[in-house]
Amino acid sequence: MTTLPDLGLDVVRPGFRTSAVHAGQEPCGLTGAVVPPIYQTSTFTQPGVDTFYTGYEYSRGANPTRSGLETQLAALEGGARGFAFASGIAAEDALLRAVLRPGDTVLAAAETYGGTHRLLSVLYSRWGVETVFVNPQDETALRAALEDDAAKLVWLETPTNPLLSVVDIARWAEAAHAHGALLAVDNTFASPALQTPLALGADVVVHSTTKYIGGHSDVLGGALVTGEAVWEGEPLGDLLGYQQFAAGAVAGPQDAFLTARGLKTLGVRIRQHCENARAVAEWLTGHRRIARVLYPGLADHPGHEIAARQMSGFGGLVSFAVVGGEAAARRVAESTGVFGLSVSLGGVESLISHPATMTHGSTRGTPQAPPADLLRLSVGIEDVEDLIEDLDRALLAA
Ligand SMILES: *Cc1c(COP(=O)(O)O)cnc(C)c1O
Repeated sequence: MTTLPDLGLDVVRPGFRTSAVHAGQEPCGLTGAVVPPIYQTSTFTQPGVDTFYTGYEYSRGANPTRSGLETQLAALEGGARGFAFASGIAAEDALLRAVLRPGDTVLAAAETYGGTHRLLSVLYSRWGVETVFVNPQDETALRAALEDDAAKLVWLETPTNPLLSVVDIARWAEAAHAHGALLAVDNTFASPALQTPLALGADVVVHSTTKYIGGHSDVLGGALVTGEAVWEGEPLGDLLGYQQFAAGAVAGPQDAFLTARGLKTLGVRIRQHCENARAVAEWLTGHRRIARVLYPGLADHPGHEIAARQMSGFGGLVSFAVVGGEAAARRVAESTGVFGLSVSLGGVESLISHPATMTHGSTRGTPQAPPADLLRLSVGIEDVEDLIEDLDRALLAA
C-alpha cells in the first residue's frame, strides 16, 4: 500500500476563495477521498482509559466534521478559533453566557436582528442582565451610554436589519475598548466574503450560518470566531470553547457538513448576490410606486462611504418603502412569484419579507420596530432580468 502524502494546503497566504475551498477541508488522510467524510458518530473508542487515537473522545466536545467547519470559519474571518453551533441564536446565547454574569449590562445597537432583540430583552432580562439599546448612528449617545452603564459587552450588527444602516466597526471597537468592554459584531449580513470585523478591532464575530455561509436555505447553524482577545484574564477562545462543550448547543455532523459545503462557494455566490442587488436597487430607485430605497451601494445612502471603506462589496439585501404605506407593502409582498414570501435571507433563491410583521414582530410597539411600509429583499443569484420583471409585476398589482 502506498502511503498518502501530506494533503495539507501548501500556499503561504491563500486568498479568500482558496481558503473557503480548502481550509479545514483537506482530503481524507485514510482513503484520499477529496471530500472529508461526515463523522456521523457520537463517541470515539480509545486505546486506553486516558489516551485517545486522534484526540477525539465525545462529539459534544469535538467532532472531526464540526472541527473542519470551525477551521474553515476561523480562516475566513481571519480569527484564531471558530465554534459551530446548532443555530445563530445558540451561538449568541453561548457568547452571552460565556462573558456575562447577573447584574451586567449589554449595550446593543438599536437595529439588531429581531431574535437577538428578543433574546436580550426577554430572556436575559429575566436573568439579571440588562440591555441598553442605542442608536448606532449616534456616536455621542454610544459614548455617553458606555460612560453611564459600565457595559461589559457591546453588540453591533452592520449592515443592520432591516434598515441596512452601516456602522463604523473600528470606531465602535475603539469606544468599547476605551471602557473595558468587549465588542461583538454579528457579521451575518455581510458575511466574511465582504467584511472581516476582527481585522477592524472586534473581539468576536457572530454568525447565523443559516444565511449566506450555508447559502442554500437547507440548514440552520451559528458560529463564533475570535482572535487573541482576552476576557477577565482568560483567552476568550477558551471561555467560548468551554461554554460550547459545557452547555452543548453544538452543530451536528450532518449540519456541519452542509454548512462547510455551502461555505466553499461563498466567494462566487456573493459576487452574484451583490451584482443582482445593485441592479435591483437601481431599478427600484426610479420606480413611481417606491418611496425610498435602502442599499449601502447607492451613492445617496447615508452609510455609503463607511461601507465602501469597511466592506469589499455592498451585499445582497435591499430594503424599500412602498408608496401607499403598510397596506400597499403587504400587497406587494403577497404578489411576487420568483421572490418567495419568507423570512430568512442569504440563500441562492430570492426572498421578500415584511419585517414589521415577520422578522421583527417581537419589536412591535418599541422604538426598535421597523417602519410598517418597509419591505426587505434577499436578492438571490437568479437572472436579474427575471427578478426585476417579477418586482415590476408585483408593484403594478399592489
Ligand atoms: C438569522 C439571524 C440570526 C439568528 O440566527 P438563527 O440561525 O436563525 O438562529 C442572528 N443574526 C442575524 C443578523 C440573522 O439574520
